[in-house]
Amino acid sequence: THDLGVVAGVADRIAVMYAGRIVEHADVRSLYRAPAHPYTKGLLESIPRLDVRGQELATIKGLPPNLMRIPSGCPFHPRCPYVQQVCVDVVPHSLVLGDGRTSECHFAQEVLDDSAR
Ligand code: SF4
Repeated sequence: THDLGVVAGVADRIAVMYAGRIVEHADVRSLYRAPAHPYTKGLLESIPRLDVRGQELATIKGLPPNLMRIPSGCPFHPRCPYVQQVCVDVVPHSLVLGDGRTSECHFAQEVLDDSAR
């Protein structure tokens, strides 16, 4: 599903997929409190909040990739606000961030720190 709002009520752990790969895997609370992958962060920021009036919803720029022509390096790099040259050149490995959560991002710790602010 693309609806993380629905998932929160029915799952203990979430695997977020992009371009056919699991890019983040975490328990529900940790993932909603502070996502560690820019795609997850973008998805969560695009969910309307009932407790905020007149909010402008964020969107993830661009379109999902054509699976026959997946971008080089990190498949999310054409859409990612954290993109650096290494993202274009090198496929990120899955980083273990503790408490069993993983993120397939070169800058997972930075994204996590940003999300926790
Ligand atoms: S590896 Fe780079 S492009 Fe991919 S999600 Fe992380 S920061 Fe963004």
